[in-house]
Amino acid sequence: MCIVIDMDVFAQVFSEKSRDHPKYEPVFKWINEGDGKIVYGGETYWKQLKQSERKIDVINEYKNKDKVFKICDNCVDIKEKEAARLIGDSTFNDPHLAGILMVSNCRLVCSRDEGARENIKKIFKGTGFNPRFYTGLGSKNILTRRYIPNNIQKCMGLCLRKTIRKK
Ligand SMILES: [Zn+2]
Repeated sequence: MCIVIDMDVFAQVFSEKSRDHPKYEPVFKWINEGDGKIVYGGETYWKQLKQSERKIDVINEYKNKDKVFKICDNCVDIKEKEAARLIGDSTFNDPHLAGILMVSNCRLVCSRDEGARENIKKIFKGTGFNPRFYTGLGSKNILTRRYIPNNIQKCMGLCLRKTIRKK
């Protein structure tokens, strides 16, 4: 029941004071009152969270409510690099979101960055894995169990292989 929240809409989703909050309120409610959980992992996402105390507070608050699905940082970092290589465009600054999807198997992303969405679609093109994007009230219907895979995972085991190789 997980969704990746792009940092560019984090405040809009979680702060009821944000002007754009109504647009993202279904995501907020789905996490607060429904099945939704925040999925995250990896160095880049953590760095973005760390930029604001408020964001860290939000994550901790949801962790305490068991509304966070934290996945393997190392695996996300490895997959982030792979996603960046696939796109090969330095203006694409969200390969870590694709990394989170690859590692967790979650298909839902909340983002208002159209360029990022297009690149993420490109990354998964032809793989049979179709990410779904929440972009506003019009995409409210993706917040259902329908787009939730059964095999949500915390780790792909890539991190282990990396350590073995190092030895
Ligand atoms: Zn791992």
